[in-house]
Amino acid sequence: MLLEYQKHVDERAAEGLPALPLDAQQVSDIIEGLKQPQNGDSEALLELLVHRVPPGVDKAAYVKAGFLAAIAKQETQCDLITPVRATELLGTMMGGYNIHPLIDLLDYDATAEAAQTALSKIVMVYDAYHDIVEKAKTNPYAKRVLQSWAEAEWFLSRPQLAESITLTVFKVPGETNTDDLSPATEAWSRPDIPLHAKAMLVSKMPGALDTIITLKEKGYPLAYVGDVVGTGSSRKSAINSVLWHMGHDVPFVPNKRQGGVILGNNIAPIFFNTAEDSGALPIECNVDKLEMGDVITIKPYEGKIYNQAGEVVSEFTLRPTTIADEVRAGGRIPLIIGRGLTDKSRETLGMPASSVFMRPVEPVHSDKGFTLAQKMVGVACGVEGVRPGAYCEPKVTTVGSQDTTGAMTRDELKELACLGFSSDLVMQSFCHTAAYPKPVDIKLQHELPEFISTRGGVSLRPGDGVIHSWLNRMILPDTVGTGGDSHTRFPIGISFPAGSGLVAFAAALGVMPLDMPESILVRFKGEMQPGITLRDLVNAIPYAAIQEGLLTVEKKGKKNIFNGRVLEIEGLPDLKVEQAFELSDASAERSANGCTVRLNKEPIIEFLNSNISLMEWMIAEGYADARTLQRRIDAMRAWLADPQLLEPDADAEYAAVIEIDLNEIKEPLLACPNDPDDIKPLSEVAGAKIDEVFIGSCMTNIGHYRAAGKVLEKMGNLPVKLWVAPPTKMDQHQLTEEGIYSIFGRVGARTETPGCSLCMGNQARVADNATVVSTSTRNFPNRLGNGADVYLSSAELAAVVASLGRIPTVAEYLEKVAGIQPMANEIYRYLNFNELEHYQRAKAS
Ligand code: SF4
Repeated sequence: MLLEYQKHVDERAAEGLPALPLDAQQVSDIIEGLKQPQNGDSEALLELLVHRVPPGVDKAAYVKAGFLAAIAKQETQCDLITPVRATELLGTMMGGYNIHPLIDLLDYDATAEAAQTALSKIVMVYDAYHDIVEKAKTNPYAKRVLQSWAEAEWFLSRPQLAESITLTVFKVPGETNTDDLSPATEAWSRPDIPLHAKAMLVSKMPGALDTIITLKEKGYPLAYVGDVVGTGSSRKSAINSVLWHMGHDVPFVPNKRQGGVILGNNIAPIFFNTAEDSGALPIECNVDKLEMGDVITIKPYEGKIYNQAGEVVSEFTLRPTTIADEVRAGGRIPLIIGRGLTDKSRETLGMPASSVFMRPVEPVHSDKGFTLAQKMVGVACGVEGVRPGAYCEPKVTTVGSQDTTGAMTRDELKELACLGFSSDLVMQSFCHTAAYPKPVDIKLQHELPEFISTRGGVSLRPGDGVIHSWLNRMILPDTVGTGGDSHTRFPIGISFPAGSGLVAFAAALGVMPLDMPESILVRFKGEMQPGITLRDLVNAIPYAAIQEGLLTVEKKGKKNIFNGRVLEIEGLPDLKVEQAFELSDASAERSANGCTVRLNKEPIIEFLNSNISLMEWMIAEGYADARTLQRRIDAMRAWLADPQLLEPDADAEYAAVIEIDLNEIKEPLLACPNDPDDIKPLSEVAGAKIDEVFIGSCMTNIGHYRAAGKVLEKMGNLPVKLWVAPPTKMDQHQLTEEGIYSIFGRVGARTETPGCSLCMGNQARVADNATVVSTSTRNFPNRLGNGADVYLSSAELAAVVASLGRIPTVAEYLEKVAGIQPMANEIYRYLNFNELEHYQRAKAS
């Protein structure tokens, strides 16, 4: 085993990488080796067992915990590990399979003290807390564990956030989005943190990793510094990569780092939260005077950054108020779990609340009303509403996980020692890797469904389609959710997307930490004009904000009123829920923290009735976990029996109100290359030659494909390459039945597996340097193809572009889409599964 392993170590070392963590089979082999040592290899085997096994509820941890427990209980013997040492080693495994053995060991004279010490430092105990309370009635060691938790010794034994931190600046000027840090093309390697970190900044700043090596020679850790940092998605892998280069090792956790400092004029809120969760120190401050290679000293409690000459080069306010505790605890997530354990223990022991922690500061009192989002979060917290700035932990009813973050979420769940979800519905998709999977994707597609469904979650299948187009059909009105994809933006209720650490936390514990953001109200009024689509209204939001000076396209000193706030949309109450999602989905491009769309009851009733049928069909088709699906069906039926919706108060306060008059939007609006904020009217970009057109992504629904089919129905071969990727297999099936696919086939379109397709850019891609019109969500540089220039538009306009090979004039566009309006009721008819025979038939059989 050791020879094999050494070969692996050498191969990885040649790539500049540490060996992978051990799997269950390797741990079994090590245990056999330790039982019968040969050739003096036992020290090496022990070293591997101690340091190279993932903690929590990984299968390898299961094997390790079983072996150590047997030694500690003297059921088996190992010359190198005494019962006390075995108990101590169980204490390094964070939580999960080590907890019950440690509780048992409180009853053994030889190990009781070591078990007490170990348990005192562990916070991920969950339901086992009650076992300790019970045992504390008769066992003095258990009583001391409870006392230790109450005194927060797990926290106080860790070093405080230092008063002074000296670092070398690693500066990436301008905007760094999460795709720069964790490229979608390398998504397959994300669970292998050191390997994935090699792709950090490869396109944005070639040679960055060599610079990092050189800068480290100065002898200080590095600070990641940028003007705008972390725009884009919620991907934890982006933080993982930064921390791999800037953080420090975590004892007893292989291939993972924490700590690290991130400085930015503007740090995207989800990225900021993910950094907090990971134990990093993100600070928003002016970085104009910080240059690559500068040695700086940060005084966190003073709120100042000094250069080597002792001059102040930047000032800041440490936020949130709890961040010093978060860093000390190893991250926001361990802090919340540990603080909860301390609070609970003190309550059990009849002690007052602990003063050890910095508690979240409540905002000033207001007699004003609440916005819709504030009420939704309020209900999830058991109060009427939650004020902006208030820290809260809303109940999370629905959680989404997609495949390129799913493996990381799985690993986080293992570390959280989660064996069953507390959130009511957790859904896993395979939309990002289904079309052209690599072997590593296939492995995940085989393994992850069981991991999710055995914990009570619902697993989709490869080829089913985009996570959001499914998850939106599972949500309950006015409830709170989250997801590991930044486009988890519910069209009813509200979602706060997050990195995989927080998603795992929400799935495991059924709540999530939230600093309630302020809200921006966008109010539409007037009538939709001919030829104008929902996508144009999506683009009208940044367009209006730019005109009001609330948003700038320029990155340096960028202004973005939406950043970190909740976008609340009203004035379009009769939209179908599928349409409302187009609006909420795009709030990710605004860097908004969440989004609400105020709808009437009728479209929601229609949507839920359809979704009940879909879920019944899923149960009939063998989707697991069936009990979870049935529970959600029951909850929807309960809402339908007495449909009530929350409403914002008339005197609710918003950070800004943007009014958009539909009468004034007379031509389509497009996002221009390569920034979703750079909105221009069609007339300003007409005539641009286009090479490729993509109709797909979660921004589309079946109506868009019918409309595109209508525009293209009389065409022969197209002058561009047209890609078509419907969001779900249900859309694909229906479009085939209706003959729309035959139109796509005839014009030479490349029809792709339902899913993310080009939108993610991790599989099929447009040609290098192509000019593209796309219906996808975002047009960050290099996302759809290397050097590609990408316009974002409606599917209707994209189809017209496909027919011409260039962007049309407004007159050409209106002429080409003229056939759509008379048939609008047919074309924009959504998938009501309760009316479709195919789903009723399958359900009945
Ligand atoms: S379609 Fe695009 S934006 Fe939507 S989930 Fe997939 S990759 Fe993300």
